[in-house]
Amino acid sequence: MSPDVIVAGAGPTGLMLAGELALGGADVVVLERLTARTGQSRALNLQPRSAEVLASRGLLDDLLAVAPARLPRGHFAGIPLDYARLPTPYPYQIGIPQARVEERLADWSLSLGVQIRYGVGVEAFTEVAGGVTVNGMRARFLVGCDGARSTVRRRSGIGFPGRDGRMCALVADVTLAGGGPTEWTLPAPEGDGLLTVLPLGDGVFRVLAAGPAQMAAGKDDPVPAGEIAAALARNGLTPAEVRWAGRFTDASRQAAHYRAGNVFLAGDAAHIHSPAGGQGLNLGLQDAFTLGWMMAEVLRGESPGSLLDTYHQERHPVAARVLQSTRAQGVLLVPDDDVTALREVFTELVDTRALAMRVAGLDYGRRLPGLDLSLLTDGRRHVVDTPDGPVNVRPDGFIG
Ligand SMILES: Cc1cc2nc3c(=O)[nH]c(=O)nc-3n(C[C@H](O)[C@H](O)[C@H](O)COP(=O)(O)OP(=O)(O)OC[C@H]3O[C@@H](n4cnc5c(N)ncnc54)[C@H](O)[C@@H]3O)c2cc1C
Repeated sequence: MSPDVIVAGAGPTGLMLAGELALGGADVVVLERLTARTGQSRALNLQPRSAEVLASRGLLDDLLAVAPARLPRGHFAGIPLDYARLPTPYPYQIGIPQARVEERLADWSLSLGVQIRYGVGVEAFTEVAGGVTVNGMRARFLVGCDGARSTVRRRSGIGFPGRDGRMCALVADVTLAGGGPTEWTLPAPEGDGLLTVLPLGDGVFRVLAAGPAQMAAGKDDPVPAGEIAAALARNGLTPAEVRWAGRFTDASRQAAHYRAGNVFLAGDAAHIHSPAGGQGLNLGLQDAFTLGWMMAEVLRGESPGSLLDTYHQERHPVAARVLQSTRAQGVLLVPDDDVTALREVFTELVDTRALAMRVAGLDYGRRLPGLDLSLLTDGRRHVVDTPDGPVNVRPDGFIG
């Protein structure tokens, strides 16, 4: 079998892309190195632009039904950002574990005919005339959605400039002896560190902790149960069971190009940054959304191949701004009295609406106010009548 597109990686980006391509009529095979989904969730939220993306394909309602939280705000380094009056039908942040989003996207992709092959990694590929071969299978395009350590990126020779992490923190999902918080709170440095504990439902809590013990650890070091207990003790909490635990850094890097010939990058394969503000998964979904309809149009012969060059032109600047935001947040979250003073002054002076638009993912694309997103479920372009005349709307809802 020769699919149109091989997608490396069945994370949120790869699954969104696969569904979007299949909706556009493409034959798609997803190759995933893991033998099965882990069920673990690093990300916990959907920003307003991602809600629009998912609503445009009829996927949002199922996710809202199982989301443990809906917050009328986002945050920038713990500074609350009011989403209530943002120009979107979804002026809130949806608190939902990444695994739920992946499940829904996997079901959607499968229902559209996508093949997802688990236990099959993309370890190498060969560029051939008009396509790519992977594991003896030929396709027109290969898309690396294979995460931060992307093999596709490395093998394609695309540079990944930026810097390594300067801070290291722990993340864990735990149950607590004696209960825990009932509300989602914003991160705030206190003393010599940072501790955030968020209720995920079913008695499970997300723990994010940074302090001297975490700074001294390496990213791939195991997380002993005692370290989680010591971190939680700062808030008088006691862990009962650790469901999973890991570490993350604020490494900040972006692929120099999102395309090399017939090979493309999307999601964490194209950009990594600190999770501050909750934007990584969201960026990946939005990369996939843009690349998906463009690639499907080219495969259907309705647009020239040069349309695919505009994927980099559109999406690279968006991630560059997120990297800029997350680096700034990293500075503002350093536990230090002087930085706290800076954060307080910054909070007084800043235009929080502009920041909210940025973190919500609403600061790019030309929109048609009041567009009924259900119009877009077919993944095709539409002409919409407005009082000022007909307007061309792309499959992603933007004017163009
Ligand atoms: C602690 C933490 C908290 C976070 N919180 C948030 C948040 O609240 N909000 C948010 O938006 N983002 C958050 N993120 C970021 C978010 O989790 C990632 O941006 C998101 O998972 C990226 O999705 P992806 O599909 O691009 O990559 P991944 O999720 O990494 O998926 C890549 C997939 O590719 C597979 N793979 C790898 N190599 C190969 C190969 N060679 N061949 C085939 N398959 C391969 C992997 O097994 C994996 O399944 C957080 C990250 C961390 C670490």
